[in-house]
Amino acid sequence: MTSIRHWNLRRRNRRRNDARRSWTPTQWALWSAPPIVLGYVLAVDLLALVVVGVTARIVDIGSGDWIRLAVLALLSAVHVEASHGIERIRWHATEGVPYANLKGMWTFAAVLSLPPPLAVALILWVYLHSWLRLRRVPPYRWAFSTATVLLGAAAAGVCINAISPATYPDLPPGALGLVTVTVAAVAYWFINFALVVGAVLLSNPEANGRKALGQLSDQLIVFGALGLGVATATLLTYQPWLIVALLVTVLGLHRSLLVGQFQFAARTDPHTGLANTVFWHEIATKELGRAEHEHTSLGVLYLDLDHFKAINDTYGHQAGDQVLKAIAAELKHEVRTDDLVGRLGGEEFAILLPKTSVGETAEAAERIRRRIASLSVGVTTQSGSATVDGLTCSIGTATYPVAGLSMDALLLAADTATYAAKNAGRNRVVTAPGVNS
Ligand code: GH3
Ligand code: MG
Ligand code: MG
Repeated sequence: MTSIRHWNLRRRNRRRNDARRSWTPTQWALWSAPPIVLGYVLAVDLLALVVVGVTARIVDIGSGDWIRLAVLALLSAVHVEASHGIERIRWHATEGVPYANLKGMWTFAAVLSLPPPLAVALILWVYLHSWLRLRRVPPYRWAFSTATVLLGAAAAGVCINAISPATYPDLPPGALGLVTVTVAAVAYWFINFALVVGAVLLSNPEANGRKALGQLSDQLIVFGALGLGVATATLLTYQPWLIVALLVTVLGLHRSLLVGQFQFAARTDPHTGLANTVFWHEIATKELGRAEHEHTSLGVLYLDLDHFKAINDTYGHQAGDQVLKAIAAELKHEVRTDDLVGRLGGEEFAILLPKTSVGETAEAAERIRRRIASLSVGVTTQSGSATVDGLTCSIGTATYPVAGLSMDALLLAADTATYAAKNAGRNRVVTAPGVNS
């Protein structure tokens, strides 16, 4: 389910003057929250307690129900144990964006296959177990997340009962079963999601609504988990042993959730979002192979900012970092989608221009030089904010096959051209000479 991790959305990059108007939950800090946040959280917790109290009065529980509860509790425990390492990494990797997880597979299966008091017990067990394993949030936030799931589960139960009171808690047969499950899943998701987004918006009135809603792909993970919950509940009723096969599949898929995050992290410079040096070289080498094969040209730009140390000295290192980020964004916008911008070092960038001639490479470099020269960047300094302009850069260009036949030779040629640009007075483009000229 979507969790209360939404609350961390704006912990980073928070401006000083926002501090009085927004509240970011930190460890054990619920009582310091603004009254409206405190009231909201306690109201949601209280409502969940009422739901637990009401469902506890349902006493019609058979021995098969206890067995199903035991099976779900055991399998969910295996899942949490086998994946807590992955979840811990995902937790860190999703800093600043909503954190969605697969626990809905077990909790929704419980809603579909257990009488309400046992479904409540299973939800509490799954959330308590994973909290003990991860221990990433203070108890009040755990309680709030669990409360939102209990309320979502209650809404799902009410929907199932309303659509087919005759079969409840079992699903009606045929197509109506699909309709019932779909309505229940949407109710379960919506209540949980809306309550969490409500907490984000209340604790930070300036949070933009779009960001508080988070990524669509995260919600797809949640819906996938609910779909797996339907499969689990069905197998539990008709072929309980096959759930082991489902669990193994889920563990495999769970690991692959991480692969995308790893691949992105391994390729990307975290500060600017550009390709990092390893990934840039890897792609550059592949593109050079393609250029050789297809007898096309390939441009390489090497860009070093001029007197960048002076920016740090004048405005501070943090402002320097903000300028680097802004420049990275400009570079990305100035090139074609097939081109690749990489950050090779502190304030040095390389740009790969496939299928680009010597003249076109020099033109692209000149466009980039002009774009940076006209850039103004708002930065945060120790004494407030400032605007940095007058930025310039020196660019060296080298083109395959004219200036070199290997990537090392091309980079050396571009680097040497950059130094020539520096020596000639900076803020200019120098094209590496042909190897035979
Ligand atoms: P020039 O290239 O024109 O000769 O002068 P420069 O001052 O830019 O010199 P150089 O390219 O050697 O400078 C690198 C400076 O860039 C050193 C450091 O102050 C700054 N720098 C490097 N990496 C970073 C970074 O990640 N963040 C910030 N804020 N500054 C950086
Ligand atoms: Mg440099
Ligand atoms: Mg420099």
